Amino acid sequence: MPGGVNSPVRSFRSVGGQPVYIQEAQGCYLTDVEGRRYIDYIGAWGPAIAGHAHPQVVAALQAVVANGTAFGTCCAQEVALAERIVKRFDSIEKVRMTNSGTEAVMSAVRLARAATGRERIVKFAGCYHGHMNGMLARAGSGVATLGLPDSPGVVAADVAQTVTVDFGNLEAVERLFNEQRGQIAAVIVEPVAANMGVVPPLKGFLEGLREITQRDDTLLIFDEVMTGGRLAPGGAQQFYGVTPDLTTLGKVIGGGIPIGAYGGSAALMNRVAPSGPVYQAGTFSGNPLAMTGGVATLDLLDATAYQTLEERGLRLSDGLQRSIRDAGLRGCVQRVGSMLTIFFGIEKVENYSDAQAADMDTFGRFFHGMLDKGIHLPPSGFEAWFVSLAHSDAVIDETIAKASDVMKSLR
Ligand SMILES: *Cc1c(COP(=O)(O)O)cnc(C)c1O
Repeated sequence: MPGGVNSPVRSFRSVGGQPVYIQEAQGCYLTDVEGRRYIDYIGAWGPAIAGHAHPQVVAALQAVVANGTAFGTCCAQEVALAERIVKRFDSIEKVRMTNSGTEAVMSAVRLARAATGRERIVKFAGCYHGHMNGMLARAGSGVATLGLPDSPGVVAADVAQTVTVDFGNLEAVERLFNEQRGQIAAVIVEPVAANMGVVPPLKGFLEGLREITQRDDTLLIFDEVMTGGRLAPGGAQQFYGVTPDLTTLGKVIGGGIPIGAYGGSAALMNRVAPSGPVYQAGTFSGNPLAMTGGVATLDLLDATAYQTLEERGLRLSDGLQRSIRDAGLRGCVQRVGSMLTIFFGIEKVENYSDAQAADMDTFGRFFHGMLDKGIHLPPSGFEAWFVSLAHSDAVIDETIAKASDVMKSLR
């Protein structure tokens, strides 16, 4: 396997050393092949929101797996998940399942171009939308972590219709729309940027995007592969009260089984085949296993669960902020709900250039200090940590105490 991994950020390239191999994950803990246990803040990059191997999710999957895992035709479970998604997300009247977030974005962009008859897409620097060619322009985390400029193999024509703007810079968006009126098919954004570390949207940013796009009949796509299902029952669009035209989902909505989905109004989604001419398909799309993982997980996430996630996230970020101060370090903790990132060496991060100015050497030493103490953080300072329902107050306090010790050794 190139670099020994199947997805680049796992390689520890940015923090040094070798990844650990995981044998088992239960609740908030990972256990490696040598029997060492870690408190986990990767959370499978989001899906483990209820804790790994949650008994209700496991039971639901076990009940399904013995009946066959892929039918290549319709199943009841896809209806159950679609109903839940439509109920949760005000902007989604119809939804199509895919097998990854990348596929969901690729399909939503295709649909936006078809619906508007325009080609240009606006994205924001540091926002990651999966690895489709057209979105690999200043794409955040994996790319930022490895310090790759743009991926070779992505040819100029692939990104010729992608315009990149700084996250949070409404004036630049406004200027772009003045210059290119009638040419922009869609603006795609992570409503909370979570792939350059956690960067909340500046006040008014999402509202501004809604207004500017509406004025020019441009579609607004919220890439909620990370935030949908994590921030609120109806995702970041509910959390911030801004309604996009199209939404992409993934991660949490599969409960740990590969998944993606995209949705929007019936009028837009009816353009997708076989209702309409926009082609998009998938051998494994809507398979009973992924659908069941999603249904079982979403059914654990009621309003109380989101309140708990908020409280646990707050407890952890407050504690880490205190630890930074007590250790006499410079740095900040940025958080929205149960996602957070520590940036060392900088007071706040509002966009990709701020994130790139953070001190990643210190993060690397912090990461290894924590790993030695049995806490597995995401192996990059450009990633979000994920708190789950299985991270008890005691586990969070243990994390803070250990982080405090490690930070004191970093001075
Ligand atoms: C993870 C992620 C993707 C890509 O999803 P995959 O399932 O890894 O293909 C796209 N957009 C955002 C915002 C993500 O966080």
